[in-house]
Amino acid sequence: MFSRIARPTICIATRSLSTSSQNNAKVAVLGASGGIGQPLSLLLKNSPLVGELSLFDIAHTPGVAADLSHIETRAHVTGYMGPDQLDAALKGCDVVVIPAGVPRKPGMTRDDLFNTNATIVATLADAVARNCPEAMICIIANPVNSTIPITSEVMKKYGVYNPNRVFGVTTLDIVRANAFVAELKGLDPARVNVPVIGGRAGKTIIPLISQATPKVEFPADQLSALTARIQDAGTEVVKAKAGAGSATLSMAYAGARFTSSVLDAMNGKDGVVECAYVRSEETECKYFSTPLLLGKHGIEKNLGLGKLSAFEENLVADAIGELKGSIKKGEDFVANMK
Ligand code: NAD
Repeated sequence: MFSRIARPTICIATRSLSTSSQNNAKVAVLGASGGIGQPLSLLLKNSPLVGELSLFDIAHTPGVAADLSHIETRAHVTGYMGPDQLDAALKGCDVVVIPAGVPRKPGMTRDDLFNTNATIVATLADAVARNCPEAMICIIANPVNSTIPITSEVMKKYGVYNPNRVFGVTTLDIVRANAFVAELKGLDPARVNVPVIGGRAGKTIIPLISQATPKVEFPADQLSALTARIQDAGTEVVKAKAGAGSATLSMAYAGARFTSSVLDAMNGKDGVVECAYVRSEETECKYFSTPLLLGKHGIEKNLGLGKLSAFEENLVADAIGELKGSIKKGEDFVANMK
């Protein structure tokens, strides 16, 4: 068992998710009983930045909340179940993380999830707009390339859209790129940082190996293979799980890392940078992921694409068409909603 002395380091032993002092943020996890939702809630329960953890799902939340509430950390945990309790779950929330939705099965693309997850995300965004419009919204539910436009359009309907506060969580791609580069180069993964830009599906995932720190170099064939592996890493997990879902544990880690960065920045920590898929002027796509400087009010500055290699410029050019299509699909969905 963990000793009391060891407790502060169990948050995330490998890469510290947070260095700032305690605060009292109220964080909601919508879809808290799922494959991602449960370990994500566990990691957030261990965060010193969280004062209240509000867990919502359409099933099993009382059990998840009761279980987590026995952990000896300060976050107060409450479980809410079913549509009737959604508003109560969201009242006063500072940050809302949304992993609700169906995951991929072998042979499915993220876009195959569109019909089910679009409705779920639109319903949850509607409740956020009515109950905690100022909250930072972190969307994990796929297809992220469309669920961010959906969330944004729903917030606009209520006149409460703030593009600096709506994030598509792409952190898993950064986490994977860091892990794979470290493995290939024999580096400590906790010290590797590879920005990943674009979107959150297939060829729209664009790792910027040329901007990695520490600097790394690969021959052209290895660079192509590494890029393809990062783009297809989700499918690697879907295949290995053989019908039991998609990435959950690594996604929970990535979601907790991103949420902790948002909380750190809200808490006044300087220099917090994360990539995320957001409203953007950096390319001809309305939404695009790039490194962002985070602050007390969400995005403080979009740090842009930086200097790209010729290989990376081609990847961006290749991604634009698909991204635009996914964005339009999300916007059309909300426009046609009854
Ligand atoms: P899961 O099926 O294990 O869990 C989903 C949970 O959502 C379930 O507990 C379900 O009851 C709940 N849910 C369904 N409808 C709901 C609603 N209307 N309100 C609240 N909760 C609802 O799935 P999972 O593996 O946890 O994946 C969740 C989502 O995350 C999927 O869309 C998946 O594709 C996506 N995902 C995203 C990334 C990323 O990098 N952003 C990575 C992996 C998975």
